[in-house]
Amino acid sequence: MQKSIERIVGDSEGVSYEFPAFRFEGADKAAPSAYLQAALHAGELPGVVAIDALMPMLEKAEAEGRIKGNITIVPQANPIGRAQYHFGEHQGRFHLGTRTNFNRGFPLLAAPDTTLLPDTTLGTADQRLKIRLLQLSLGHDIVLDLHCDDEGLAYLYVHASLWPAMADCASAMGVDAVILWDEDTDGTFEGASITPYLNLPAEVARFDRRVATTVEYRGILDVDGTLAGADAKGLYRLLVARGVVLDQTLSTPGSFTGTVAPLENIDMMPAPRAGAVVYEVKPGDRVAKGALLATIVHAPGEAGGRTQVFAPQAGIILTRRSRRIIRAGEDLLKLVGDRKSADARSGTLED
Ligand SMILES: [Zn+2]
Repeated sequence: MQKSIERIVGDSEGVSYEFPAFRFEGADKAAPSAYLQAALHAGELPGVVAIDALMPMLEKAEAEGRIKGNITIVPQANPIGRAQYHFGEHQGRFHLGTRTNFNRGFPLLAAPDTTLLPDTTLGTADQRLKIRLLQLSLGHDIVLDLHCDDEGLAYLYVHASLWPAMADCASAMGVDAVILWDEDTDGTFEGASITPYLNLPAEVARFDRRVATTVEYRGILDVDGTLAGADAKGLYRLLVARGVVLDQTLSTPGSFTGTVAPLENIDMMPAPRAGAVVYEVKPGDRVAKGALLATIVHAPGEAGGRTQVFAPQAGIILTRRSRRIIRAGEDLLKLVGDRKSADARSGTLED
């Protein structure tokens, strides 16, 4: 395993950022290669500790000559976001200098060719970081971007062209749900990882062996040794199932038994009032149409001071907010409905 230090020039003299990248060299040039990164949203750490638990497993495989395909790992992909604090609160989702989401604005290339990437010499530091991450990841057959939600189940975003071919991956990782999407207009990292292949001939795009996914490892507080160990095993099982690592002690993943739904089935449930949210449901709950989801206390102690929010359709609660203060119009939760949401949002991932 080789460690390199990646450097990103900052936006002013004397400022720069760095992060390590680790590479395992595969013994078989024909084997699929894999790229894993975590904490692109810099405060989302379940994937960071999962990689921390995965690394010794890969080092053991390397010592035993079982690494078949090249593996690149970036455990903390966003040194800019990691350093952003505003009045004592960490801000790892948006770049404070440009107000741009760190997981938006990646270039959606017409082909998987890093020479097509724009020159960001005169851009901003977050743009340079995005280009560098794409340079590191493009060309790998398997690209995993590890995130987390507020509070939630473990789930994947997957482009529809990769499903059901990626069902073995979802099964290997042990996630609860898979959300399928079609079109990325915002430039997520996942979108930038799969879009370059969409217009290629099938024998070049190789969707049978390609993997690109945003992994949502539950909630922001789920930074936990037991979960990290289980998630590391899930990542390892995926790498074995896809032939990146050889391990004959593992069996082939079974069929995926979790929820699979298109993005358009998600109801985001915007809050009708501002106030304190009292949830009546938690991630994983199955709800019927009309079930009470939450009560918003907007005028405490007054008659009519509570507003109830009901499920617009039957489905499963995928996520909810980690904070209990809400403004009118902000999303209360993600309900994966059994059918298309009446107010389905355009756009892609809501990671
Ligand atoms: Zn995220």
